[in-house]
Amino acid sequence: MRKPIIAGNWKMYKNLAEAVDFTQKLIPLVSGVTHCTILVCPPYPLLKDTADEACGTNIMVGAQNLYWEDEGAFTGEVSASMIKSVGCTYVIIGHSERRQYFCETDETVNKKLFAALKHNLLPVVCVGETLAEREKGDTFAVIEKQVKGAFSGLTEGHWQSIVIAYEPVWAIGTGKTATPEQAQEVHAFIRGLLPKNVAADIRILYGGSVKPENIKELMSKPEIDGGLVGGASLKPDRCAKIINYL
Ligand code: PEP
Repeated sequence: MRKPIIAGNWKMYKNLAEAVDFTQKLIPLVSGVTHCTILVCPPYPLLKDTADEACGTNIMVGAQNLYWEDEGAFTGEVSASMIKSVGCTYVIIGHSERRQYFCETDETVNKKLFAALKHNLLPVVCVGETLAEREKGDTFAVIEKQVKGAFSGLTEGHWQSIVIAYEPVWAIGTGKTATPEQAQEVHAFIRGLLPKNVAADIRILYGGSVKPENIKELMSKPEIDGGLVGGASLKPDRCAKIINYL
């Protein structure tokens, strides 16, 4: 049985007071939740305070990115061990906004993946096609290239730590959700690319305009193991409604 994950990606939103306030408000709204893992991913400067607030609750904290070196002269970058040291358990890797605006490639995603695993951070690796790629009929080829590139060289013992997020770029922040059938089809395709002995255990989240109004239908699909949620995760009550999708 794959335990679903509902993950909130705060992107570049909230200041420190807002992050603390959010977490304090979310805690009682989800305190009874056992059906899914709850994850919030604030910007770097808010990680420690969010993790401190969430400590001892069922809310996990993750970063939105990392750099693959352990330390060094890399001004502006943040390493996996730093992220781990402030109380994070997860890290998002290869979000389409990183690929689009910060030149991330399948190769850098792969390096970041190994850095995360080395420091026992659970990676949420994002893949997804653009609208132009979908319209050209290239969805499966793009996804296959991204999945193979991201997980190149991964050894057997590492697979159980992996979480994948399928996020069609045309659905992120646009209000256009992939239909549950479209998501199910790509999730099944992704699972088919994974090693046979671990494929059934790996969680594949859907991301792209997930909200309280559509989470239940998405979660009814057998291949959808949770959601990576941007905009709708920013308010505690909406976030809690998504988490309490049952
Ligand atoms: C995201 O940030 O990964 C995302 C899917 O955003 P949104 O839910 O706003 O589409």
